[in-house]
Amino acid sequence: VVTPVPVPTAFGGTDTCMLMTFHDQTPIRRVEEMRADFVANASHELRTPLAALSGFIDTLQGPAKDDAKARERFLGIMHIQATRMARLIDDLLSLSRVELSAHVRPDTQIDITPIIRQVGDSLELLANERGVKIEMELPDGPEMVAGDREELLRVFENLIENALKYGASGERVVVSLVHASTTEGVSEIRVSVRDFGPGIAPEHLPRLTERFYRVDVGDSRAQGGTGLGLSLVKHILNRHRGRLLIESVPKQGATFTAAFPLPKALSQNAAPAA
Ligand code: ADP
Repeated sequence: VVTPVPVPTAFGGTDTCMLMTFHDQTPIRRVEEMRADFVANASHELRTPLAALSGFIDTLQGPAKDDAKARERFLGIMHIQATRMARLIDDLLSLSRVELSAHVRPDTQIDITPIIRQVGDSLELLANERGVKIEMELPDGPEMVAGDREELLRVFENLIENALKYGASGERVVVSLVHASTTEGVSEIRVSVRDFGPGIAPEHLPRLTERFYRVDVGDSRAQGGTGLGLSLVKHILNRHRGRLLIESVPKQGATFTAAFPLPKALSQNAAPAA
């Protein structure tokens, strides 16, 4: 930005100097680029099921008009595509809602063990379909964190559902809760979801929480995935002052851990563990 500035001269008059100010636009550009990327990705993801839907509508109005069998089959596929679009829109809305409220920390103390058990129960059907057993290793007593119930449900739903979808060959998924300390001495409650499936190659690990990032897009789509789940989990945990830890050994499985800092009063009494 160039601004003319009047400057007094040695002879009592004034002169005009030009003041040049430089603003580093890089961070603003980066945010703009990220936003443009996100819109492009979201549009692409919505366009895919939409294209399938219009294709089937054309077929149903034209060549398959009088074919009852084909109509039945196509309507089934159209239903799957419409469900996929609805899920994508739900995830996009949840993500934007969590981002908008990122600065508001949930302050209600809630017991997370019933929330985890509720998610386990609601996914029992999917687990049975996959031939996987969900094992809960949770303490009997309450485990309090400052949190938002609905958002915590989303966190555990995403993590356990992913373990069932992508780690199914492992036959069991273990959900456990432990108390632990960070290297800085912060006491945490850590809820881990461990599967014994194919795991994830190390090069993918740092990118898993990026929006729309998937190790295998075809596999994710086939499982009804949107590529937004882990991004949502990360944002929810950040809002809870928590963090998401991901570990995996290829061919041995993956462990996703949601870590929550203990409330101060509790952390003074808690014995640091591993
Ligand atoms: P999606 O909707 O595709 O499931 P997520 O954001 O939840 O999106 O996960 C991103 C990707 O991370 C998935 O597409 C999958 O490739 C990988 N992933 C997530 N959980 C696991 C897991 N337990 N085992 C192996 N891969 C996983």
